[in-house]
Amino acid sequence: MLAFGPMRTKTTAGGIGGDRHRSLLAWYRRHRRDLPWRRTRDPYAILVSELMLQQTRVAVVEDRWRRFLERFPDVEALAGASADDVLALWSGLGYYRRARQLHAAARAIRDRHGGRVPAEAARLRELPGVGAYTAAAVASIAFDRPEPPVDGNAARVLARWFRLRGDARSGPAARRLARRAAELVPRDGGAGEWNQALMELGALVCLPRRPRCGACPVASSCGAAAEGRPERYPGPGRATRPVRESVVRAALERNGRWLLRRNGAGETPEGLFEFPALPCPSGRATPAAVARLVERRWGWRVEDCRELGTVRHQILARSILVRVFAARVVAGPAMPPRSAGTFRRVALSRLSELPVSGATLKIARLLARR
Ligand code: SF4
Repeated sequence: MLAFGPMRTKTTAGGIGGDRHRSLLAWYRRHRRDLPWRRTRDPYAILVSELMLQQTRVAVVEDRWRRFLERFPDVEALAGASADDVLALWSGLGYYRRARQLHAAARAIRDRHGGRVPAEAARLRELPGVGAYTAAAVASIAFDRPEPPVDGNAARVLARWFRLRGDARSGPAARRLARRAAELVPRDGGAGEWNQALMELGALVCLPRRPRCGACPVASSCGAAAEGRPERYPGPGRATRPVRESVVRAALERNGRWLLRRNGAGETPEGLFEFPALPCPSGRATPAAVARLVERRWGWRVEDCRELGTVRHQILARSILVRVFAARVVAGPAMPPRSAGTFRRVALSRLSELPVSGATLKIARLLARR
């Protein structure tokens, strides 16, 4: 069960950062966001939050984290769940590999650690899907171990505060940032709070393009602010411009249920159900062409085929524009041939029972608005 209650807030006054620690911690206690995972010390709940928050916005995660923990309140419940049930709860969060790894981590904790999340960062790193950042975050936030997780927000604050220029994600600059973070983390208690304060400062005040130095609790000792151009730090990283793609998907309805196809091995996101894609160049898709393709591939004759709209979604480094065509099936076999993949026909109201992709949920919203 989750143990909600006030967080321990021990302050460090010694070590490298006496005044720095005090002013940042005082700011954090006044201004931190009241996020649900900050009201618990349950290591399992914190591990779930850390994995969900990777690549996903806090506003999206809040509600999903609650629902996930209602369904899987502890390691035992998650370890004993089916992969489909876990993926269904993850639907729409993207980066589904995280869900599979969290599921595998729960099984490893149950089988190798007697159901207790290990406290040491080195043991945490042995769990599936748990890298250096996540291990340090869980060890410090849940167990108050003096480990320094450096996410993008903390890296930006440290780079500006101590004028460390360079690519914050890898190479020498990233190692310098990690060393500085390790020097600053309190060793006599309060590591978790300190780490969260650093990350929160990056999320709320030390913003990438427009740092709000006038509201910053460490402005008086900040090297980049003293220079006058803090946004120059940390410096150029690798450019990651998403590759733009487009795809045509068919939403085919028969007797109030919609056809979904499950992605097979090697298809992204693997194992999730989606409205089927058609091998039709997006620029040449028309209602007539889509109707012909559906009949040729699956033997389904359709009527009222029309373009419903578009949705955009992102998978890893791909930005995908989906043109959605909807049609009513009037004749043909009950289901497409097995050779075409695994299919289900579901009512929109029951979509949440299946593991579906974020794009599928967006298309379902288009259908509901028709
Ligand atoms: S003073 Fe400005 S640049 Fe320095 S840490 Fe604070 S917000 Fe960032």
